[in-house]
Amino acid sequence: MSTAEAQLENIKEPLITNIQRYSLQDGPGFRTTIFLKGCPLRCPWCHNPDTQLTKKEISYYAEKCIGCGRCAERCPTGSTYIEQRGQEAFLKYDRSKCIGCGKCADACLTGARDIAGREMPMAEIIREAAADNMFFFNSGGGVTISGGDPMMFPEYTLELAKNLRQEGLHVALETSAFGPWHHLQPLLQYVNLFLIDIKAMDAEKYKNIIKGNLDVILNNFENLVKAGAAVRARLPMIPGFNNSQRDYEAYTEYLGKFVGRIEAVDLLPFHSYGEKKYQLLGRMESYQYLNVNSMEAKELKPFIKMLIEAGFVAGKSLTVGGLIGVNK
Ligand code: SF4
Ligand code: SF4
Repeated sequence: MSTAEAQLENIKEPLITNIQRYSLQDGPGFRTTIFLKGCPLRCPWCHNPDTQLTKKEISYYAEKCIGCGRCAERCPTGSTYIEQRGQEAFLKYDRSKCIGCGKCADACLTGARDIAGREMPMAEIIREAAADNMFFFNSGGGVTISGGDPMMFPEYTLELAKNLRQEGLHVALETSAFGPWHHLQPLLQYVNLFLIDIKAMDAEKYKNIIKGNLDVILNNFENLVKAGAAVRARLPMIPGFNNSQRDYEAYTEYLGKFVGRIEAVDLLPFHSYGEKKYQLLGRMESYQYLNVNSMEAKELKPFIKMLIEAGFVAGKSLTVGGLIGVNK
């Protein structure tokens, strides 16, 4: 192991929830997306709740459980236990006592328990990401650092981006940009493309619902553009949250100032795929979009029309779903 690799082995924070290959929606070409665990915001529609908290969590797939009790035997805290009621035994799980040690998941032979968030040495992440180099080369793709929010771990993200670039990889960073500029600024030299989420143009909604600060986000967005970075604005389109005519007007007025200065606006229609994850994590109470249907692209036609009138070009500087394409 080289000295550089040995140094990287020591950088183990944050936890990684997934390294997803062949993604087409997190930047140009085929991409490998690295999901870091931890986010400072709390979007009530979040479809990756497993990446919100920095700690390890257990996903429980009840339909796979055969009630063997191996998990309860291994649990050191008594959070997983067998409750005897007469002749019948019931498997119980008290999440409030769980320390996320993962011993239950290791013991489970059916995959009914899985741990969300694993330590992964940075050198291993780099090796895994670089393994797809041929696909990146042929498609104009690369690696996207996502989460959660990578800006929750600015030093780690900087080191990761630097090392990915040293491997000759195209690096995209997906972030809510909620953090001090001095955390983003050093990334300018290593990140090829910034994917900046702008979840609303209403400061009160940001503050009260998402738990963020719109001014901070827009300042960072503008600073990146001024610095000449390649930037795409990513707009999650959420029913009842930011899809009114007023929302469309505010977005169009603001983003219209950046026509020709940002690469594109990507509209990301709400989908309900995250619902199952809340169930698995035992956090249904924090999911406020239960039974809300996925949004169809055609619902965004009025907004698309406004953005086109402002100067964005459909399929080029304006996309729906974030599908950017290959070899661009
Ligand atoms: S993660 Fe550890 S503490 Fe939590 S239920 Fe499993 S074995 Fe018990
Ligand atoms: S070890 Fe797995 S299959 Fe057995 S009781 Fe626990 S969760 Fe169910």
